Amino acid sequence: MADSPAQKPNQGTAFVVNAMRRGFGGKCPKCGNGALLAGYLKPNTACCTCGEETGGIYTADIAPYFTIMIVGHIVMPLLLATEKMAAPPIWMQVAFWPTLALALTLWFLPRVKGSIMGLMWALGMRGHEQH
Ligand SMILES: [Zn+2]
Repeated sequence: MADSPAQKPNQGTAFVVNAMRRGFGGKCPKCGNGALLAGYLKPNTACCTCGEETGGIYTADIAPYFTIMIVGHIVMPLLLATEKMAAPPIWMQVAFWPTLALALTLWFLPRVKGSIMGLMWALGMRGHEQH
């Protein structure tokens, strides 16, 4: 763990959940004020309010992974229930469900990334840890 300069002492579940909640809202996991992301997904180098360096937290593919899982668990039950109850025309379903899935994906992705960055920050992880 020599390459983990953000290593923090274990501060409990509430600390971790709070950091994830702040990250979900796009805010710095430390102070909750500064913007975590500079663009849609690009992390800010450091918090503009407290100076915490969050830009080096590397989340790799975990944000898209969880986003796909969340969106799938929202869209698929709705799709199946709609088909079972109303059976709308196929053209309508082909137009609606992919659009909903895309919109939810675009909404969730930066929020999930922020949550993961908050989690990693709270646990002192940078994403380059060795096994
Ligand atoms: Zn901050």
